[in-house]
Amino acid sequence: MRGKISEEEAKNQVAKHFPWCPFCCFEHLEIDVKPEREYDYIICENCGAKWEMGIQEKIKSMKLVVTSVDWKGKDLLDKKMEPKFWQNKAWLCVLTRRTPKKRS
Ligand SMILES: [Zn+2]
Repeated sequence: MRGKISEEEAKNQVAKHFPWCPFCCFEHLEIDVKPEREYDYIICENCGAKWEMGIQEKIKSMKLVVTSVDWKGKDLLDKKMEPKFWQNKAWLCVLTRRTPKKRS
């Protein structure tokens, strides 16, 4: 057993630590969690970016596996980063935009 947390808890963790897409500020990220899989995924339905998330009791790492449609993050592709790195980026996105983009 890998001691993975439940899907619900994983979603809570993401909502808490990763509330917006760092590229487009979209705030309804899809979280793809499967207990039998080693990695889980966060997908932005707005810009198409996708992260591979290493999660146990909490989010340990986040690796960008698909860039946004406009190639944001291509320098960070396949690099395993601390969740904090993406968190800061997400905050920056929101601060520079003032209001996160919403689905209308
Ligand atoms: Zn996005």
